[in-house]
Amino acid sequence: MNERTILDLNETRNVIIEIIDQVRGDRTQLLAVLRECQSRWRHLSPQVITLIAEEMDLSRVHVEGVATFYHFLSRTHRGNYTVYVNTSATAEMAGSHAIVKAFEREVGISFGETTSDRQIGLRTTSCIGMCDQEPAILINDVVFTRMTDAKVTKIVAGMKANRPVRDLVESLGDGKNALEEIHAEVSNHIRVRGPVFFTDFEPGTALKAAMNHGALEVIDEVKQSGLRGRGGAGFDTGQKWGFCRAAESETRYVMCNADEGEPGTFKDRVLLTEMPELIFEGMAVAGYAIEAKHGILYLRGEYAYLKDYLENVLTKMRQEHLLGRRILGTRFSFDIQIKVGAGAYICGEESALIESAEGKRGQPRNRPPYPVTSGYLRRPTIVNNVETFGAAAKIILNGAAWFRKMGTPASSGVKVLSVAGDCERPGIYEVEWGMSIRELLAICGAKDVLAVQVGGPSGQCISQNEFDRKLCFSDLSTGGAVTIFGQKRDLLSIVHNYMEFFEDESCGFCVPCRTGNTLLIKALEKIMVGNGTAADIENIKQLGKTIKATSRCGLGQSSPHPLLSTIRNFTEIYQKKVRADVDFLSQFDLKFAVIDSCVAANRKPNLEIDSEVVDGTRPN
Ligand code: SF4
Repeated sequence: MNERTILDLNETRNVIIEIIDQVRGDRTQLLAVLRECQSRWRHLSPQVITLIAEEMDLSRVHVEGVATFYHFLSRTHRGNYTVYVNTSATAEMAGSHAIVKAFEREVGISFGETTSDRQIGLRTTSCIGMCDQEPAILINDVVFTRMTDAKVTKIVAGMKANRPVRDLVESLGDGKNALEEIHAEVSNHIRVRGPVFFTDFEPGTALKAAMNHGALEVIDEVKQSGLRGRGGAGFDTGQKWGFCRAAESETRYVMCNADEGEPGTFKDRVLLTEMPELIFEGMAVAGYAIEAKHGILYLRGEYAYLKDYLENVLTKMRQEHLLGRRILGTRFSFDIQIKVGAGAYICGEESALIESAEGKRGQPRNRPPYPVTSGYLRRPTIVNNVETFGAAAKIILNGAAWFRKMGTPASSGVKVLSVAGDCERPGIYEVEWGMSIRELLAICGAKDVLAVQVGGPSGQCISQNEFDRKLCFSDLSTGGAVTIFGQKRDLLSIVHNYMEFFEDESCGFCVPCRTGNTLLIKALEKIMVGNGTAADIENIKQLGKTIKATSRCGLGQSSPHPLLSTIRNFTEIYQKKVRADVDFLSQFDLKFAVIDSCVAANRKPNLEIDSEVVDGTRPN
């Protein structure tokens, strides 16, 4: 090692020590340390990974394992400006493909590459929570929405001129999005305000009401309200709190799952932007009920632009004695910290979220034990969605009976929906459970609808003859996403996009999910190019069933849904595509398969070979 290298190494080590000191050496903050290093050096070099491991007293393998798990961390340079273009289904519908092309033209490289001077890197990513204002992109955590060709040209010129990313934002969004500490081109698009969320809330009132009730009564009130988890699973919230309180431990945790990564979902983004005090107070009420002192908001990496703002809200709440030691002058102490993800959909699964919050790879745990007995740092933990905490705060304030008056007997209260796709008014709708899809389509201005995806890709794709079905736990359950597809949409391309999303986001732990989804995609592609047969549809159904039954967590268990629900509800689209003249067609084409090796060996491919004869599958 020469003198210069030793100096560089020492300099890098000092910076890393400084970053680690900021989190007081807390190993559960490994992800925050990696995020900071990525942001500083635009990649995580082997040297940086080694230094972090040494300074945090962790094995190098562990640090590298975490560094390679998350989409926004990279071992290769991603450019001083890293552009992430969202290529989710709704982004593609809104023209993201043209935006990709515009960036490639202006920057002079392809997606997946970084310029030779390391100034600009181009990457694609899945849903960034802006489905109502696509095409949208992220550059170094700053959000740009409603992208156009002209806007790309301006932004690229700004990056080439070294301008700060925030200065490239042309017009700020509405509501709190325009605040200096958010500074985002994001619109809230709140179309329907209901009585629970997007209405007046005086900070401190829910906590005072909780303290008047007493902890056990708070749990009882939440049980009486019938509140069920709003993230999608729909577990009874009061019961969950009761189980956690009953678990033997000195320490318990309250975790708020703000990792909404399901394509089509963006309601938690708006709740956190406009009603953060309500959400944080709901967490404090839960802490009071289960006797927890610590709360963690796990914010998805795509929403990092909200972090400073949310930290300011927490500071204000501490100043007003709504958080921290001796809340409202009582003996109850509770505080909240924010942990930011780094781009991994699987972290929305509660046990993966806990692992990630502990500074590990976001891989789901085996269950039982469930988080209520063994969660964060193996202590009893409740994990609830953003919306669930907001609803709980209002229930404590207004009573279970008030909440029960809304919705249906089995699905009480309201639901915040993120509506996107082919309609006149995409955005946020706070509606009572029990509303039919047809009613929703009318209020959001959707006409000539082919299909509605309810609950995101892991939910169901329904056709017109099911539009009278109702949004509720006993019929069409949803974590919030409703995506509308007009008659002109190519449903199979949308299904393909969704399946690729699951393939990319699989954590890779178990075979059915890791390999099965790739096989499903291959079968779908075969059908899409016109080489599919009726047997392929049957194979998809069988394999889909197997993947659902044998995958370890919810991601794998729901990943075949885009295919299975469209095969069930749009059979004719598949039937039109498959070959009726044959029972079986091999997907393997020998001539095509050997072309690369022939070119490499400088041999002429034998185009006379009949691949169907070679593998014995010549059709009759
Ligand atoms: Fe990971 Fe998929 Fe298995 Fe879940 S089902 S543990 S995401 S591989």
